[in-house]
Amino acid sequence: MPRKVEKTAAEWAELLPADTFQVARQKGTERAFTGEYNNHKGDGEYVCACCGDRLFDSRHKYDSGSGWPSFFQPADGVEIEEERDESHGMVRVEVLCQSCGAHLGHVFPDGPRPTGNRYCINSASLRFKDREEAS
Ligand code: FE
Repeated sequence: MPRKVEKTAAEWAELLPADTFQVARQKGTERAFTGEYNNHKGDGEYVCACCGDRLFDSRHKYDSGSGWPSFFQPADGVEIEEERDESHGMVRVEVLCQSCGAHLGHVFPDGPRPTGNRYCINSASLRFKDREEAS
């Protein structure tokens, strides 16, 4: 599917905070337990830090103990792009924002019910909107 939002790396670098650029546009990973949303408990939605599209909902967030914000599914009606990732000597499934291609994190098959999935997401790729602001 074509991207709704296309920018060059230089354009993103100018628009985004340095940590978001490094994680979302250069496939970086923030250090465990350091991200803004790891322990975040607010009620609302998490949107893409690059393009603002809806990605996750706090109703699906849980404490995985991994040190990164974890969700057992994307927000209702949202499709998250998945891509096989063989970097760093591992085989993982990378997850990306479908609209702008932002690197979000990875999905692992060790999550809780009802999906059994763990979306392990970098805070730097997300922006929280509380429920009222989001609706
Ligand atoms: Fe995006």
